[in-house]
Amino acid sequence: SSKQAGKARCMFFDKKIRETLVARARVEADLRLALQRDELLLHFQPKVDTQTLEIGCVEALVRWQHPMRGLLMPADFIDVAEQSGLMSPLGQQVMVLALAQCRRWLDQGIERPVAVNVSPSQFVEPDFVPGLLKLLSQSGVPARLLSIEITESIAMTDFEMNVLRLGSLRAAGVRVAIDDFGIGYSNLSQLARLPMDELKIDRSLIAAIGRSEKSEAIIRAILSMARALGYRSIAEGIETAEQLAFLRDLGCDALQGYLFGRPMPAAQIEDWAAARRAGLQVAVTA
Ligand code: C2E
Ligand code: MG
Ligand code: MG
Ligand code: MG
Repeated sequence: SSKQAGKARCMFFDKKIRETLVARARVEADLRLALQRDELLLHFQPKVDTQTLEIGCVEALVRWQHPMRGLLMPADFIDVAEQSGLMSPLGQQVMVLALAQCRRWLDQGIERPVAVNVSPSQFVEPDFVPGLLKLLSQSGVPARLLSIEITESIAMTDFEMNVLRLGSLRAAGVRVAIDDFGIGYSNLSQLARLPMDELKIDRSLIAAIGRSEKSEAIIRAILSMARALGYRSIAEGIETAEQLAFLRDLGCDALQGYLFGRPMPAAQIEDWAAARRAGLQVAVTA
């Protein structure tokens, strides 16, 4: 009967929900251990100058070398970290790793600016700014080589407090980028008051280039707004030459995406940059 079928379906969903909860609890327990056992590592993805296509800054992206499950991506564990209050300690480890790598590059004579993603829940911790400034001075990395990427959602709660926080980071020389821009709720007049250096256009808008005139219009509007407000502009998720040409014509300052380079271990970055310089040399002299 349909009643029995309904009951069977309920049991099915019960089972599904229970499996999901068990899996989540396992990820959470594993993640607590991971933080103690230094299983987190960083990959770095180059950002390139739109005009020269030369590497500028690199973005640090967290990975988890799980003892049983292999290399996990943020999508596999960031939500769990957020839900279980582990985002702050995780973000702290990421910051330590990123500054250590930046320091290593400096020791090799390379000034390689590093961008670190900061979760809003990490950012609003009362100790975030002083903690970050302490890590910076301990690392010996000049503040100007560090930028943080944070989403515009920090404009939605504790606005005045977050303006002060961003302001004190920038006063110390740390750069601020608003990540995933163009898809969230934005109160534009508030946004204009957020202390920042750079607007980073979200990948979903970039993916629509050549497919959606509305998305293209939004990208144009973001770029002219960035210019009017004095922010640098960068686009993420560039995969095609068409997207590159579109953004270059519109004067977007910097680009990031698989077309140029995937996230990679730090050791590969300098090889990538050297090969790229050689390749660009060939392109210029050809
Ligand atoms: P995000 O900060 O917007 O980073 C860009 C994501 O897009 C990265 O995914 C990157 O690998 C991917 N990506 C870059 N270029 C392309 C492209 O051309 N095509 C496509 N399809 N994808 C591209 P990833 O590393 O999986 O990170 C996903 C998100 O996880 C990040 O988005 C960021 O929000 C978060 N995340 C990563 N690392 C950290 C971290 O250390 N702390 C915090 N709080 N969040 C992080
Ligand atoms: Mg980012
Ligand atoms: Mg982004
Ligand atoms: Mg994104």
